[in-house]
Amino acid sequence: MEPVEAHEHESDVIVVGAGPTGLMLGCELALAGTRVRIVERRTEATRNSRALTLHPRSLEVLDMRGLLPRFLPLGKTLPGWHFANLPTRLDFSALDTRHGYTLFLAQAHTEALLEERARELGVRIDRGYEVTGLAQDETGVSLDLRDADGRPTTSRARYVVGCDGGRSAVRQAAGIGFPGTEETLTGVLGDFATVDASPEALEAARANGIMVVPLEAGLTRFVYIDPERMRTPAAEPVTLEEFRDAVTRICGDDCGISEPRWLSRFGNATRLADRYRTGRVLLAGDAAHIHFPAGGQGLNLGLQDAMNLGWKLAAEINGWAPADLLDSYEAERRPVGQAVTENTAVQLLLTELTLVPPYEHNATALRTLLDELLGIKDVNRLLADGVSALNTTYASPRQGAHPLTGHRMPDIDVTTVSAKNTRVHELLAQGKFALIDLAGHDTDNDLHGVTEILVRPDGHIAWATRTTDAATRRTERAEALVAWTGSSTEAGTVQAR
Ligand SMILES: Cc1cc2nc3c(=O)[nH]c(=O)nc-3n(C[C@H](O)[C@H](O)[C@H](O)COP(=O)(O)OP(=O)(O)OC[C@H]3O[C@@H](n4cnc5c(N)ncnc54)[C@H](O)[C@@H]3O)c2cc1C
Repeated sequence: MEPVEAHEHESDVIVVGAGPTGLMLGCELALAGTRVRIVERRTEATRNSRALTLHPRSLEVLDMRGLLPRFLPLGKTLPGWHFANLPTRLDFSALDTRHGYTLFLAQAHTEALLEERARELGVRIDRGYEVTGLAQDETGVSLDLRDADGRPTTSRARYVVGCDGGRSAVRQAAGIGFPGTEETLTGVLGDFATVDASPEALEAARANGIMVVPLEAGLTRFVYIDPERMRTPAAEPVTLEEFRDAVTRICGDDCGISEPRWLSRFGNATRLADRYRTGRVLLAGDAAHIHFPAGGQGLNLGLQDAMNLGWKLAAEINGWAPADLLDSYEAERRPVGQAVTENTAVQLLLTELTLVPPYEHNATALRTLLDELLGIKDVNRLLADGVSALNTTYASPRQGAHPLTGHRMPDIDVTTVSAKNTRVHELLAQGKFALIDLAGHDTDNDLHGVTEILVRPDGHIAWATRTTDAATRRTERAEALVAWTGSSTEAGTVQAR
């Protein structure tokens, strides 16, 4: 814990990058009462959207902050997503959540809505500033910036979080390694204003592995991996001619594509930061992990990093963080990042092998087999739990902790002390801990027999007990509150039963 030095720094935290991760983190930090500034290199928000998906855990996260009603009307709900583009889809509707679906929503909307929320919460967003370097000392971090006219300036904050994407300048300046594997394969995407194709041609395109999805404003996105050009470096621009030629070769028809609005090549370089924190500098989102965009997970992962980090960093700044709370960010989130880098690599391999002699026939047979397995409910659920991120559980560092510690708290119905009927996610709207008396609840889920539970601001379980003895429960509760909230009183929590 450290004293608050309000005047010494311009901001408590400078978040570098106004992508989805930086904006979400800005919201979380501001909600917890810290002074946040986001600096972003781009002078304007981007209109092109890489990501198109918000999966169940991200939807829960947005729900916990009361933001879902802003997002849902702008997107389309789909019953699930895919694994390795296998024909049998992942069924999110079978998962244990109120949000068992994917929200199909362009990244530009996600960013715009998060930016709107960040501004409402008082986050200062400075566009047109590029971070070029940093130096940290015992009390803060000095950032070197370049404004849109190329003029250098410096800014100081108590902490800096690099949410500045895969090529993160913050990560490099902080000397954090980014080990992993080089790009060996690229895919191509194109958003077209005109597609003049018969249903049969589009069917053939899909059957041959081209993803064809309608976007808004009359655009259609095509995404493919071209066996003849998949070793082309991501840095090489895509031309309309190349696109038409590849689509024609892959499915026998150019699908009448014209008026491209965006053509892009993306690669499978896969890397994970070897640390998520060094001193007063932290990383989140693509700055900490990059991978092939298989299963639509990267943006989701970044939002969830931000949800994990925000309240912890704010606790440190607000002076009540228990020892090691901030370090638990890396301990909890890096394994999740690692799991996603691994599952995306597996998904890509299942496609790449079908394109490379001498494996193509065996690989196709392997895909058929896996597709059959996906028809088995439990198998489907196992993979769906992973891609949806509903399986994210944090290991408890405490000996003898209740087995539910670190698990996701189910969004059960509860009643507040003022007798309002609500649910757990609504209780978390202000980003506080929730203390829930479950003694009267008769649940048939993992909470069966649990008498009291402390939920973290990010919706994971901090502490649970099954004791029915009031005095023991009081003692355990006080210990848990000290360990997690730095105070033995319930004053900082919202309470319900
Ligand atoms: C083709 C493709 C499709 C994808 N589809 C999906 C999908 O469907 N679902 C999904 O979940 N994910 C998907 N992703 C991944 C997703 O787009 C990223 O994971 C997500 O954008 C990461 O968000 P971020 O905020 O961490 O980083 P970014 O979105 O990269 O944002 C970083 C921000 O930092 C700014 N910045 C960079 N350097 C500096 C600097 N030095 N100073 C100041 N500002 C700086 C950048 O301008 C940018 O605004 C896809 C990716 C690709 C390539």
